[in-house]
Amino acid sequence: MNSRRDGILREMGLAPLWRLRGAEEVDEAPLVEPAPPAPVVRAPEMPPSAMQAAEEAMVKPLARFAPPVAHLSPEPRVEAPLANRDLPGDIATLDWDELDARIRACDACELCQRRKQAVPGVGDRQADWLFVGEGPGAEEDARGEPFVGQAGRLLDNMLASIELKRGEDVFIGNAVKCRPPNNRTPEVSELAACFPYLQRQIGLIQPRLIVALGRPAAQALLNQEVKIGAMRGKLFAYNGIPVIVTYHPAYLLRNQADKAKVWEDLCFARATMRRIKQEAQA
Ligand code: URA
Repeated sequence: MNSRRDGILREMGLAPLWRLRGAEEVDEAPLVEPAPPAPVVRAPEMPPSAMQAAEEAMVKPLARFAPPVAHLSPEPRVEAPLANRDLPGDIATLDWDELDARIRACDACELCQRRKQAVPGVGDRQADWLFVGEGPGAEEDARGEPFVGQAGRLLDNMLASIELKRGEDVFIGNAVKCRPPNNRTPEVSELAACFPYLQRQIGLIQPRLIVALGRPAAQALLNQEVKIGAMRGKLFAYNGIPVIVTYHPAYLLRNQADKAKVWEDLCFARATMRRIKQEAQA
């Protein structure tokens, strides 16, 4: 492991917790090795249950994605909070500029009343990776870009820890595009009102993998009740696109001990992306 990655892991509060076996000898060693017979380079301190879940999910072929959703989700699907999933009006036909303009002018829920500006999202519009957060906070509301505050700096470090960078093959969006007052959790009705915009963004980007950061993002995407702890390490799907659920960076700022779990989830996401790409080439 090189010093840059050491620094990133330290910043995430993970170092020196997890060290790769043999990392001293191998500079820039991949954190997760997908190839058999040892698909995962184990970090000795990783909880066995989590590693097992990650391994199980990694070795299963992504052929599981066809047909989508049903057998991907091991959780029983309960109430559908955002029941109507049809794209209303002409949203399905909007291009990026039209969609951005529509989001900025949106008054579909009361979040529009106190926003400085809507925050549509940022990044590579053809990204393989889509990260979805909850909603803009004060800094995002002021600057018009998602994840630019403290949680955003942590998200950048999380991305860097799996060799990703904001804007490079990564798009970052939110479940709601306007700041909820006092950074409260968005209401289900607000998630529902805003979901068509996320739907259209996904349709335009066509990411290979979506990472839902926190409960509202997962709830919006998966249309089901969400318990992050129970959903980590499993593959879900939105419209046939694999979805991985993990904790929100703002939660991590308050619950440092759970950073290790997010590290597992990021490794799982990276291994999943590798497998998706491998299977696409096969
Ligand atoms: N938290 C989010 O969920 N999104 C942001 O854009 C900023 C903080």
